[in-house]
Amino acid sequence: MRLPIAVALDVPSLTSALYFTELLGSQIAMVKVGLQSYLRDGNDGVVRIRDAAAGAEIFLDLKLHDIPQTVANAIGSLKNLQPDVLTIHASGGKEMIKAAVEAAAGIQIAAVTVLTSLADADIEVLSNFKVSDLVLRLADQAVSAGCTALVCSPQEVVGIRKVVGSGIRLIVPGVRMATDSTDDQVRIATPASAIAAGADILVIGRPITKARDPLAQIKEIRSSLGESL
Ligand code: C5P
Repeated sequence: MRLPIAVALDVPSLTSALYFTELLGSQIAMVKVGLQSYLRDGNDGVVRIRDAAAGAEIFLDLKLHDIPQTVANAIGSLKNLQPDVLTIHASGGKEMIKAAVEAAAGIQIAAVTVLTSLADADIEVLSNFKVSDLVLRLADQAVSAGCTALVCSPQEVVGIRKVVGSGIRLIVPGVRMATDSTDDQVRIATPASAIAAGADILVIGRPITKARDPLAQIKEIRSSLGESL
C-alpha cells in the first residue's frame, strides 16, 4: 500500500530528483516539485519526474500569490503540464482563489494557509490574529471559494477539519519523526500524530532526502504509522 506521503524533491539537481522519484515513487502517494526544482528544470523536469514516478501523483508546489487575473493566466500556462495538485497562497484573497479554481481545469488547487515555518510573532505585522485563528479563517475562505485541498500544519488539522468537513484533502508539511532535525520548521508533529489528527497527505522532504538511508527512513515511517493506515 502506498504511504500517504508527498516527498518534497527540494534537491540540488534533476538527477537527484529523479533518483528519489525512482527509489520511492512506487511506495508513496505523491512527489512534490517545488520552486527549487521547477525554476531550475522547468516543465521538462516535471515530465521526466512524472515518467519516473510509478503512478505517484505530481504535486507542483509553486505557491502562487498575485492578482486574480495573473494567477489565472499563470495556471493557464500549466495546462499542457497538468500536474495533479498545484498550490496557491490562501492569503491571496477570495477572488484570487476563485480565479485559480476556475482556471485549473482538472488540476486540484491546494491553498496554503499559513506557512509551517511561521509562528505568532512572524505574523504580527500582517494581522491581529494568532496563527491558529488565521489558519481557520483562511481555510474557511479558501473552501468557500472552491478549493478542495488545503495545506496546513499538523497542529491545525483537527481545527480545520471541524470547519471544512471530511471532503477536503488536507496536505500537511512540518512532519518530523521524534529523532529528526526540525530544520526551519516550527509548527510540527510526527507522522503518526498527523495522520491520527486527520491529515490526508504528509509532506516530508529533508528527513527523507538527507537521510543516510532513505529507504530505511520510509520503512521506519511506515512502521510508525502501523495500524493508522
Ligand atoms: O524538508 P521539509 O520536510 O521541511 O520540507 C517541507 C516542504 O513542504 C518544503 O518543500 C516546503 O516548501 C513545503 N511547505 C511547507 N510549509 C507550507 C507549505 C509547503 O513546509 N506551509
